[in-house]
Amino acid sequence: MFVFPLAGRGQLARLGLLTSHLSLLTLCMTTAARAQSGDPALEHARKLLRSTPLIDGHNDLPWEIRDSKTAPRDVAAYDIRQTTPKQTDLPRMAEGEVGAQFWSIYIPGEIKDSGYARVQLEQFDIARRMIARYPDRLALALTADDIERDFKKGKVASLLGMEGGHAIENSLGALRSYYALGARYMTLTHNVTLDWADAALDSVRHGGLTEFGSEVVREMNRLGMLVDLSHVSPGVMSDALDVSEAPVIFSHSAARALVDHPRNVPDSILVRLKKNGGIVMVTFVPAFVSPDAAAWDLQAQQESNRLKGTVSDTAERRRMEDEWKAAHPQPRASLKQVADHVEHVRDVAGIDHVGIGSDFDGIDAVPEGLEDSSRFPYLFAELIRRGWSDSDLKKLAGQNLLRVFHSAEATAARLQKSRQPSTKTIEQLDGPRLSS
Ligand SMILES: [Zn+2]
Repeated sequence: MFVFPLAGRGQLARLGLLTSHLSLLTLCMTTAARAQSGDPALEHARKLLRSTPLIDGHNDLPWEIRDSKTAPRDVAAYDIRQTTPKQTDLPRMAEGEVGAQFWSIYIPGEIKDSGYARVQLEQFDIARRMIARYPDRLALALTADDIERDFKKGKVASLLGMEGGHAIENSLGALRSYYALGARYMTLTHNVTLDWADAALDSVRHGGLTEFGSEVVREMNRLGMLVDLSHVSPGVMSDALDVSEAPVIFSHSAARALVDHPRNVPDSILVRLKKNGGIVMVTFVPAFVSPDAAAWDLQAQQESNRLKGTVSDTAERRRMEDEWKAAHPQPRASLKQVADHVEHVRDVAGIDHVGIGSDFDGIDAVPEGLEDSSRFPYLFAELIRRGWSDSDLKKLAGQNLLRVFHSAEATAARLQKSRQPSTKTIEQLDGPRLSS
């Protein structure tokens, strides 16, 4: 990995030419190191991922930058040319052969304050400043063709995906404005049930999508914004599949038949992807891919709830939670388990309906073997050892997502000919709000 131990950041800008020479040198050294790995499956995986873009469906780096302890929201200070505290930086992404990345534009839905727009806009700003800061390595991608163009140029196509429909604050105008800022997918919910959709990890209030929720899906179809069903309840998954005229995605979920976690996708939904055309981008979140890690997650949640009922002081409660976690370490998930989920989705939904969505930088624990953004080729090497063909591996890597994206764009072009932007309100479709 390459770092600049002596140069200050002001100097870096003046060192552009030297930087590109040094980058080339680093690239040569990395390539030499790769050639010596001695693992034919790994070499095969790397070669394959250089011929087709690996598209990762979910990475939370923009929130990490916001949340930095030393320099919050400072894109320059959070230098991704160097090793970062979590799982993502440019050298590790290059080592991991990442061709395109959906950067998550996440905002927490738990805090009900004066509105979400400010934080959401700030997250767009952080992500877009980050992408603009490394023009030699990252490029803002707004279309499926952009992904292929950037990949050919050797840059990571950088897409923006909103995490949580609460961000639109029940407004289709806000949805359209976020599309204009570059959002190309939106998870209909995050972890909190909304006025128009139930979340996987919250109470069921509507049994799926309300009429306004269906209108959100229709407007996303008209815009060409991918409907992301990670984080929603099975009822919302089902309703969205009924309503959506374009293929849907799950940007970071796993298979519920293997790990019974509410964030995962049931087989009854997986089989419906054949007709819809959508994909599940299998995530690396330990509690979603390992039954032992999932059981631990449940226990940790119960302990946290128990403490909430008995300890009122927040700091003291956090300390006790940390103490519990130290005494009960989370069981590790493994790369092989992630590969099992990939194969389950392939077996039930079909090879055209599976992709990869790591959730790096959104997780503290990582599976053994998939520790950071440098490790993607190891997952592909495992599948090569399991007998996967090159054409199937290419579909998994990114061809499936590209097909879905092209299809969503074609649907949008068709719908825009016959349908005006929706001006419907939640009050018109679902009746008066009780609050707000
Ligand atoms: Zn998430």
